[in-house]
Amino acid sequence: PARGEVILEAKEVTRKFGGLVANNAMSLSVKAGEILALIGPNGAGKSTMFNQISGVDTPTSGEVLFLGKPVAGRGSREIARMGMSRTFQHVKLLPTMSVLENVAIGAHMRGDKGVFPAAWRLDRAEEARLLNEAARQIERVGLAEHMFDAAGSLALGQQRILEIARALAADPCLLLLDEPAAGLRFKEKQALAELLRKLRGEGMGILLVEHDMDFVMGLVDRVVVMEFGQKIAEGLPEEVQQNPAVLEAYLGG
Ligand code: ADP
Ligand code: MG
Repeated sequence: PARGEVILEAKEVTRKFGGLVANNAMSLSVKAGEILALIGPNGAGKSTMFNQISGVDTPTSGEVLFLGKPVAGRGSREIARMGMSRTFQHVKLLPTMSVLENVAIGAHMRGDKGVFPAAWRLDRAEEARLLNEAARQIERVGLAEHMFDAAGSLALGQQRILEIARALAADPCLLLLDEPAAGLRFKEKQALAELLRKLRGEGMGILLVEHDMDFVMGLVDRVVVMEFGQKIAEGLPEEVQQNPAVLEAYLGG
């Protein structure tokens, strides 16, 4: 997609769990070459919204379009092949496997086979292609010197960047990141922000859920703020930061 083109569009997405409305008529869009942050207090409905967008869950009403096509009813493999890639808070890296192998698994996700090496049954040519692609992504994110280190031996900030390399290996145009800065040191956050800026510069669309206000404010192009399942504000980081409803949601209650 060309820079500035809308690649993701959520339209009036509502998700109810029994009587609880976790997402209430939520609309948002992401363009190629843009970073959008989805923020809000705990329980606001951010993760639920992420799940509607990535097709892990299906809205009660409303729809999500990716590259103009509905995501509902597609498997995660198919959505990855369309060009949407996400990091998971709970799908861990394989700590004893190398950086290269961890990313090769991500490259393989764009294909149609299982996730685990034992089930790959790749021919030599396919294996070489995956390892090549993985190495390319590792260089892209700046982890080349750790290519053959065990993933578990890296610092947390490097592991977070490795997770992004793994997501990139599926060759996405939209990257979904779930709290990428959580638990990172200041320097690590800076390195992560620098990588995300670089990817944006290459035309990547990025949607991130984040609690860390400072990280978001210095980095993203636009912010959508949620509270109680609804959008309470949207705009430039500096605008949103001064919005009384946003201050109330974070500081009041
Ligand atoms: P956030 O990510 O902003 O902290 P969530 O999207 O995780 O918020 O949750 C929003 C609300 O929806 C919460 O009240 C949560 O308890 C509820 N919720 C989320 N997932 C489910 C589910 N699978 N079943 C029932 N309630 C859920
Ligand atoms: Mg959450």
